[in-house]
Amino acid sequence: MSSRREVLAEGLAEVNRRIGAACDAFGRPRDDVDLIVVTKTFPRSDIDLLAELGVRDVGESREQEARVKVEQGGLPPDLRWHFIGQLQSKKAAAVARWADVVHSVDRAKVIARLARSAAESGRDLTALVQVDLDPTPQPGRGGARPDEVRALVDEIAASGLRPGGVMAVAPLGADPREAFEHLAGIAEEVRRDHPTARMISAGMSADLEAAIEFGATHLRVGTAILKERESHG
Ligand SMILES: *Cc1c(COP(=O)(O)O)cnc(C)c1O
Repeated sequence: MSSRREVLAEGLAEVNRRIGAACDAFGRPRDDVDLIVVTKTFPRSDIDLLAELGVRDVGESREQEARVKVEQGGLPPDLRWHFIGQLQSKKAAAVARWADVVHSVDRAKVIARLARSAAESGRDLTALVQVDLDPTPQPGRGGARPDEVRALVDEIAASGLRPGGVMAVAPLGADPREAFEHLAGIAEEVRRDHPTARMISAGMSADLEAAIEFGATHLRVGTAILKERESHG
């Protein structure tokens, strides 16, 4: 029987081995790639253990679940909270009160609400534009069309938020390498307009190697590290 701490330590070690191997294979410096551990649906106690194991970036996808975890306090002050879920405009103000980075901006209304709330609470908030790379967009999956991205990054910059760059999830059933290559091209255009917006948030448990091959700077990995939800039975 291994403890939860051992499960998480082994999961982290395994994912870090994969990241190291992919960086070697694709000629990327290991320092260029940050790991965000996606803790959605897992209990706050896992975040405490991850922080003890040195994790400083955690990703959550539901506003209320994340806020409860944040409000318990007691985590290292340099821990960064990433919001990666679909962002309804009515939740944007609440997200801006606890998140450090929002990866899933896909429309102007959300930018205005995030910016106002961040300014009111005196917080520095980085915003990425989520790109929908599906050739046949699925309603409700979130993400801006590729040709909308540059204007949204301009709006982020004008709003007072910090433009971070771009984020995408590889479309289901498609080759993630093609999707991430497309994303890299969009990221390059964004950097031409906003040289500091260098983040490329791409790659999950199943496709992190492909994301590293095509320039990802931030991986969002959940199940490969956290495995099964603990039984409370
Ligand atoms: C859940 C989630 C992840 C992590 O996915 P895993 O397959 O568990 O690694 C990454 N990105 C987003 C947007 C997610 O919702």
